[in-house]
Amino acid sequence: MVNCPLLIESLMEVITTHINADFDSLASMLAAKKLYPNAVLVFPGSQERSLRDFFIRSTLYAFEVERIKNIDLKEMKRLILVDTRQISRIGKFSEVLSKSDLEIHIYDHHPPSSEDLHGSVEVISEVGATVTLLLDILQKKGMEITPDEATVMMLGIYEDTGNLTFPSTKEDDFKAAGYLIRKGANLSILSNVITKELTAEQVFLLNDLIQSATRYNFHGIDLVIAQASVDRYIGDIAVVVHKLKDIENLDVLFVLVRMEDRVYLIGRSRLEEVNVSEIASEFGGGGHPTAASATVKGMTLVEAQARLVKTLTEFVKPKKVARDAMIYPIKRIDPEITLEEAGEILARYNLTILPVVQNEKVIGLISKQVVEKAVYHGLKTSLVKEYMTTEFAVVSPDTSFSRVQAIIIGQNQSLLPVIEKDRMIGAISVGDVMRILQEEMMKSEKGLSVFESQPLYARKKVISQFMKERFPEHIHNLLVEFGKVGDELGYSVYAVGGFVRDLLLRMENFDVDIVVEGDGIRFAEEFEKKFSCRIRTHKKFGTAIILLPDKLKVDVATARWEVYDSPAALPTVESASIKMDLYRRDFTMNTLAIQLNPKAFGELIDFFGGVKDIKEKVIRVLHNLSFVEDPTRVFRAIRFEQRFGFQIGKHTQHLMKNAMMVGFLERLSGGRILSELLLLLQEEAPLLALKRMRDLNLLHFLHSNLKLNEQAEAFFEQIHHVISWFDLLFLEERYERWLIYFYALIDLLKETEIEELCQRLAMNDKLKKRVIEGKLHGDQALFQIFSWINTDRPPRRSEIYDVLNPLSTESKLFMMAKTTQVTTRRYISLYFTQMKDTKPLLRGTDLIQMGIKSGPFIKKMLKGLLKARLDEQVMTRQDEVEYISKAQGMESWEETIRYQKED
Ligand code: ATP
Ligand code: MG
Repeated sequence: MVNCPLLIESLMEVITTHINADFDSLASMLAAKKLYPNAVLVFPGSQERSLRDFFIRSTLYAFEVERIKNIDLKEMKRLILVDTRQISRIGKFSEVLSKSDLEIHIYDHHPPSSEDLHGSVEVISEVGATVTLLLDILQKKGMEITPDEATVMMLGIYEDTGNLTFPSTKEDDFKAAGYLIRKGANLSILSNVITKELTAEQVFLLNDLIQSATRYNFHGIDLVIAQASVDRYIGDIAVVVHKLKDIENLDVLFVLVRMEDRVYLIGRSRLEEVNVSEIASEFGGGGHPTAASATVKGMTLVEAQARLVKTLTEFVKPKKVARDAMIYPIKRIDPEITLEEAGEILARYNLTILPVVQNEKVIGLISKQVVEKAVYHGLKTSLVKEYMTTEFAVVSPDTSFSRVQAIIIGQNQSLLPVIEKDRMIGAISVGDVMRILQEEMMKSEKGLSVFESQPLYARKKVISQFMKERFPEHIHNLLVEFGKVGDELGYSVYAVGGFVRDLLLRMENFDVDIVVEGDGIRFAEEFEKKFSCRIRTHKKFGTAIILLPDKLKVDVATARWEVYDSPAALPTVESASIKMDLYRRDFTMNTLAIQLNPKAFGELIDFFGGVKDIKEKVIRVLHNLSFVEDPTRVFRAIRFEQRFGFQIGKHTQHLMKNAMMVGFLERLSGGRILSELLLLLQEEAPLLALKRMRDLNLLHFLHSNLKLNEQAEAFFEQIHHVISWFDLLFLEERYERWLIYFYALIDLLKETEIEELCQRLAMNDKLKKRVIEGKLHGDQALFQIFSWINTDRPPRRSEIYDVLNPLSTESKLFMMAKTTQVTTRRYISLYFTQMKDTKPLLRGTDLIQMGIKSGPFIKKMLKGLLKARLDEQVMTRQDEVEYISKAQGMESWEETIRYQKED
């Protein structure tokens, strides 16, 4: 390659700025070019649209900006950074940083951050605009600027200081602005660029933002979040944000706009407590405490919003540290004691993990799990020090709570020692973390935090007409009556959960779930007084079930906030409002409520974007700890995903995997896993769900040898066919679908492994028997039939009957799906269609009339008769009578022989 020597020389120095450059960046680059006349101006990436528009339209300035691809990074000797010093914001230029001979000069007005670069020249001061800094230098050096340059520089100052109104504006900015006026900055061009009329698209966007604007209160600090989704790129969102902020006169505003595949986050703040740059940097962006932005990829709007709220919860508050969370004194054990002794201590204090301490120093952690395993393997006399974990994190009392949370939940260390001057002064357990998170949520409930969020403009949707169309009259009337009873008691009453979800999905579901803001039990009792029904109440949970005559069952709950004692335990209950009740639910699509009180009958309440998620067919949790709080939600998500053909949201999937990775699933009791698995297998077509389980490693989690290979998949498909066939033929027949699928699931397991799985799922003896024997008998019967096929003689019909009749319907359907032989399938189908209900025409009473003594003999005769009928030896009643008489003769002959022998 031949290079023009001139070019090489000039390429050795580059002036650049942050990605998404704004006017202050451009202004600063121009100013810097005066100081480094040989340097080339290069943008590290794209510029904000308004800047680009300006560029294109502007014929005034012929800025010589080189494209980054024309720069030979290897040749670079000096990098001049303006308006940034963050590594993550300089795009491709971060690649040259490793060059040993590279000189870096920095001119910046951003506050320090953890990823700041350092240079041999650093001019850093927190003034309103970077160009202010550079202008100061230019003035001192007596360097001139043209009116055009002054205009651009003024734009930089205006933009970054909000026309000199942001609190970040310093005296120097005013001075610089004055200087620029003196140098001929053209204010009419400025006002053209800055106070441009909004385009039609921007007006729509502004309208959406206003509509969605929601007021939050984070620990006493009011702020507003607005969001919108647009499909085409709209330039200058910042202008729209500015407008919104002015219209509403907001102190703190966050705007999230989804455009194409990314979400733009813009924050503006007038309050010291809210540093928007800190928040933006959590999203990979940056800026100033008063104005910042980020471009978020790989998140939907809702996820970004959730994350924003979460980030705000963390940042907008006095910080908690490890010291606040730890408990002390902490039980500890000696490394030299035996595992058996350790086990006793763990059991006596009901602990799951303990620190191992030697000379006041924590040298390890030992968990109940390890102790139990080791003891099980006969190692009870081994010493704790041999089996303790020696790789573990510790924190100091001043470590932030979020770090503590990251270690305990993110890295699955269930006990975290707090160390000060080499001594353990306390420790934090998973339970403590959960408790604190919970307390924070509770606190917020009391009006101090995010749950106070209220739409600035309440958008209420009334769907009473739709309800009337969709529900049968008796259900509709019932809902109306619930509302009336609520009014009488002064309670708000809502229909909630799956019932509402399925209404919107237009799926039939008459499992009515009601939540009352009041005493649910009293509500049910009051209802019982007025309508003929029965009720059952659960005082402990504040719930009731109303059983109506037409077999309709209504669950009534008291609006509640569940406090989990430990992450995977069942909840204890305290009462709270409907919002809290909905917040504790599993997925956004299940958080919808419909008010039933007469005044507001049919008002659809959607606090968490459930309607939108249903429309978008996504399953999303409400908060990041959802799966940690209740790992059964993993199974529920999978179940709903396949039932509705929805998708589990990306972020939710991520959280799911996390919860599994850190082992929260292991905390689930066998019984809870079983009931989830059962529900899953009870679904219409569980294969997809099982595949999903396999891909998430959940099958492995149930039993290490549980697999779902191609053969098993085909098996499942086959079961689906068989079941559909069967249901079509025998509508009324009851059986348990899940069991058939379960048989298929365990088909590749050895008998001992099946035992282990049953154990893992805490099956009771009865169920275990059904599982193990049901499958075994099915397999044996298949073998029996197979042996017939291999001989020349086809089985008699009664033989088929004898093999199949003792088996459960589930076993038979399992066989039918499992066999690859058409003949076998035909036999089973024959059994179902022609034999299973076959009965002799004669009854026991008929036989007695025929002179046969009552007793076991009758049973035997009837059995014989059935056999004859199955084998088509008897057809009519007369045939049967003759058969009996013959058999009777035979029997008495046999009896005579027997008497003779006895003589
Ligand atoms: P289905 O149609 O399978 O009955 P559903 O949504 O009605 O679905 P249920 O198991 O009947 O589910 O539960 C009723 C409601 O209780 C759900 O809509 C959900 O809001 C809530 N819920 C159930 N299980 C959980 C859970 N593990 N965590 C949080 N909320 C749950
Ligand atoms: Mg339900």
